[in-house]
Amino acid sequence: MRKIIIAGNWKMHKTQAEAQAFLQEFKPLIEDAAESREVVLCVPFTDLSGMSQQLHGGRVRLGAQNVHWEPSGAYTGEISAAMLAEIGIHYVVIGHSERRQYFGETDETANLRVLAAQKAGLIPILCVGESKAQRDAGETEQVIIDQVKKGLVNVDQSNLVIAYEPIWAIGTGDTCAATEANRVIGLIREQLTNSQVTIQYGGSVNANNVDEIMAQSEIDGALVGGASLEPQSLARIVNFQ
Ligand code: 13P
Repeated sequence: MRKIIIAGNWKMHKTQAEAQAFLQEFKPLIEDAAESREVVLCVPFTDLSGMSQQLHGGRVRLGAQNVHWEPSGAYTGEISAAMLAEIGIHYVVIGHSERRQYFGETDETANLRVLAAQKAGLIPILCVGESKAQRDAGETEQVIIDQVKKGLVNVDQSNLVIAYEPIWAIGTGDTCAATEANRVIGLIREQLTNSQVTIQYGGSVNANNVDEIMAQSEIDGALVGGASLEPQSLARIVNFQ
């Protein structure tokens, strides 16, 4: 049985005070959610330590949104995997399309980050996805296969999550049809040696479309941006039918 993981990606949202208020409202709303569903919040670095203390012993796990691949050194502004592991972080988002688009991230640097995260005992959430232009040019399959292959060089697939996030569906309200997301995720699974890897869908997931998305056979979870910022809305997604 593959693990179902609903993860919020807050991106650059919420101060510590806002994060604390979110958790106070959110925690009771998901108390009755099936134990088999993993609930993860991927939050700004400055929120991690305080939230880790606030969540201690609870069912909500924390993720960072990036990590550097070197264990330490003269890398101004960067955070290592050991620094995250030390404060009780379980997951880290790697290779998000916003990192690729605005910060020069490549499949090769994503691969180095995945390896470093695993070495420190973190579970990487490797993001892949095609742009609108690539989809329109009929390149979706090749782009996705390429990103998965290059991102997973030498990676232990027993300790890994993949998120399929078509770039054109992120923050646009233009969700990928559930059956199409299922097809691409099936294609991703064919590239893996371990059939038990959790593969999430991300891109305009919300309380209204989550049931249909999660009903697909290949989709094991969601990586939720905008709709994860509101406790009620994320709780509804966690409690999908
Ligand atoms: P939205 O849910 O806001 O489309 O963002 C998706 C995403 O990028 C999650 O990582």
